[in-house]
Amino acid sequence: MPKKLANYINGQEVAPRSGRYLENYSPVTGEVYSLVPDSGAEDVNDAVAAARAIFPWWSQRTPEQRSQVLLKIAERIEESLEDLAQAESFDQGKPVHLARELEIPRAAKNFRYFATKILHTEEMARPMGNYLSYTHRAPLGVAGLISPWNLPLYLLTWKIAPAIACGNTVVCKPSELTPMTAYLLGELLNEAGLPHGVVNIIFGSGASAGAALTAHPEVPLLSFTGGTATGRKVLENSIPRFKRTSLELGGKNAAVVFADCDLSEAVITSVRAAFQNQGEICLCNSRILVEESIYEKFVEKFVRTTGLIHVGDPTLKETQMGPLVSREHREKVLSYIKLAADEGGTIACGGSIPELPAPLKGGYFLNPTVITGLTPSCRVMQEEIFGPVVSIVPFRSEEEAIEIANGVEYGLSASVWSRDVGRAHRVAQALEAATVWVNCWMVRDLAMPFGGAKHSGLGREGGDHSIEFFTETKTICLQV
Ligand code: NAP
Repeated sequence: MPKKLANYINGQEVAPRSGRYLENYSPVTGEVYSLVPDSGAEDVNDAVAAARAIFPWWSQRTPEQRSQVLLKIAERIEESLEDLAQAESFDQGKPVHLARELEIPRAAKNFRYFATKILHTEEMARPMGNYLSYTHRAPLGVAGLISPWNLPLYLLTWKIAPAIACGNTVVCKPSELTPMTAYLLGELLNEAGLPHGVVNIIFGSGASAGAALTAHPEVPLLSFTGGTATGRKVLENSIPRFKRTSLELGGKNAAVVFADCDLSEAVITSVRAAFQNQGEICLCNSRILVEESIYEKFVEKFVRTTGLIHVGDPTLKETQMGPLVSREHREKVLSYIKLAADEGGTIACGGSIPELPAPLKGGYFLNPTVITGLTPSCRVMQEEIFGPVVSIVPFRSEEEAIEIANGVEYGLSASVWSRDVGRAHRVAQALEAATVWVNCWMVRDLAMPFGGAKHSGLGREGGDHSIEFFTETKTICLQV
C-alpha cells in the first residue's frame, strides 16, 4: 500500500483541503509508493496563517535561543541519517551511499552552520561628530521556499536554516516528485522542539501550490531553486509585489581542460562531475572542452572510465548511478541523445537503457552517455539536459576555450584544469560563471557566496549573503 503523506502545518500532519492526492512513483522500481497531497491556494493560506501567527514570538527570540533549536534539528537529522538516506534514495534514485555520505550530512551541516553563524553576525556603527549611525537587522516575516527534486533535503534545508536562524518563519514547497525526506523532516522538527508554525511544509504541484505561494500577499520574500523557465514564472509573481527574491537556476557548465593538466586527475574528476547523482546536479559539467593536442587521449580515457561506472541497484555500495528521477525525465534525456545524433554527434558510449532484473526492470535507469563531434552552437551543447549526458569538444587556444565556454545563456559554474597558475587565474576570471573550480569540482564552503550568473540565477546565498537576504537592514542615526 502506498504511504499517504500529509502537509505539515503548525506542527501537525494535515490532509489537503481538496482531499486529492498525487501518485508518487519510485524511480527505482517504477511503482507508486506514496500519495502526495495535491495542495492548492487554501492549504497555502493555512500554512501562511500559521507562519504569521508565530512570527512575532519567534522573531523576538535571541540568536542564542534560535541557535539552540537549530543545533537540535541538526542532531536529529544526524541521528536519523540511515532512514533519511534510504528514503532519499528510493524517492530520487541516487545511490544510498551518496545520500548517506554527502547529502544528508550536508542537510545537518546547513543547520549547524547557520546556528553558529547567527551568533557571530555584527552590526555596523559609525560616529559622525555629534551623531551616531548604526545598522539594525530584523527578519522580514514569512519566507516562501521552493526547492527541486535533485537534492531534496540538502537544498530545502539550505533555505530553511538561514531563514529561521534570522528569525523568519517559513512555508516550504518541495518538489512533488521527491516529497519523502521533507515529509520526514516535519517529525524531526517537532522532536527537536521547534515551535509549531515556524516551519510549514506544503506538498503539491508547482503550478498549483508553488504558484499560490509565490503570489501570496503575506509572503514578502521568496527563495527559489529550480529550472530557469520556472524561475521566470516565480519572478512574474514576485515583481508586481516587490518581493525580495533569490533565484538559483539551471546551468550548462563547462570544464576547460588544458594540455598541461594532470590528465588522470582531470579525467577521474570530470567523470564524477558529469555523472554524480545521475548527472542530476545543477553543478554537473555537461560540456567538456579539451585542448586539441590531448583531445584524443582524453576522450579515450574518459570513455574507458565511464564504462566502469556501475549502474543499478541504489542500495548496493558498488553502485555509482541509480535511475533518473522519473519516466518523463528519462524520456527528455533520451530525446536529447537522439537529437545529438541528428545534430551530427557520435555517441561514444552509453545512450541506452541497461538490462536489469526485476524489480529494477521497471525503474528509470539510463547508461552514462558521452557524445563527441558536436559543434558548440548546436542545441545539445546549448540547452540544459540535466541527466547523465556529457559532450566533449576540442579547442585550439585559450581564447577559443573561453569563447565556447561563455557561449551559452547560462552562467552557473565551470571548471578549469591546468598546472599553469597564471592561466588558471586568468581563465577562471574570464569565465562567465558564478563559481569556478580549478583542478577540482564541487568543493563548497558554506561561507562563500553561491548563485548563478546570466540566466542561472539572481542574487547570492551562502554565509553573509544569506543573512543579508533573510533580514531587512535599517540605518538608525541619532544625536548623541
Ligand atoms: P522545476 O521544474 O523548475 O521545479 C522546481 C520547483 O518549483 C519544484 O518544487 C516545482 O514543483 C516548483 N514549481 C514548478 N512550477 C512552479 C510555478 N509556476 N510556481 C512556483 N513553483 C513552481 O525544477 P526541477 O525540475 O525540480 O529541478 C531541476 C532544475 O533545478 C534544473 O534546471 C537544475 O539546474 C535546477 N537546479 C538549480 C540549482 C542551483 O543551485 N542553481 C540547484 C539544483 C537544481 P513541482 O516539481 O512539484 O511541480
